[in-house]
Amino acid sequence: MRVLIVEDEKRMAELLKKGLEEENHSATLAYDGPTGLEMAELYEFDAIVLDIMLPGMDGFDVARRLRRNRNQTPILILTARDAVPDVVKGLDVGADDYLTKPFAFDEFLARLRSVSRRGSTPRPTRLQVADLTLDPATHQVFRGNQEIHLTPTEYRLLDFLIRRTGRVVPRNTIIEAVWGFDQEVEENTLDAFVRLLRSKVDRDVKHKLIHTVRGVGYTLRPNSKP
Ligand code: CA
Repeated sequence: MRVLIVEDEKRMAELLKKGLEEENHSATLAYDGPTGLEMAELYEFDAIVLDIMLPGMDGFDVARRLRRNRNQTPILILTARDAVPDVVKGLDVGADDYLTKPFAFDEFLARLRSVSRRGSTPRPTRLQVADLTLDPATHQVFRGNQEIHLTPTEYRLLDFLIRRTGRVVPRNTIIEAVWGFDQEVEENTLDAFVRLLRSKVDRDVKHKLIHTVRGVGYTLRPNSKP
């Protein structure tokens, strides 16, 4: 399972992440509402764990906006004990289940499995441009029949570009999406990762897919015209 945890109590968020990773799941953390919303919209998750009281935007708003944008990723709400009105409101805005704090990790895991199974959305099974395919469910990437092995950063970079095929994506937009808002990443770091990605995706093929747009950023598109 790929899980997004939106929780501003860092200790709690990190404990949940650690627990999930020990069970061979992957967990991404966001410590405030706007970042949580952004991550949920940028990446595919099997479930979102959403705290209610969050800086920037509360959990209700995050859930409401996701559902309004037709994002059907299952949501498990975390709420303080004895906050029944919260629970009702949470379910009303589109959450799938809730858990009151404090809770046992085993129960958390069980609820999470259950909401993710309900898994409402048919996801796009594969993203494809020319003979390049990317499978968000398994993180496998192929060029033709050849599997391409990418590091997690290279994968996020390719995933971001392929979802914007044909559009020119500015460097800063890519950096924020791939490394996060809070990271200090220089443009030449991005350029270095693009070189690495190209050396894997566009090597020994006639039709290059990743193109540089001078002074702006990068674009992924099927033809190799400038
Ligand atoms: Ca909180």
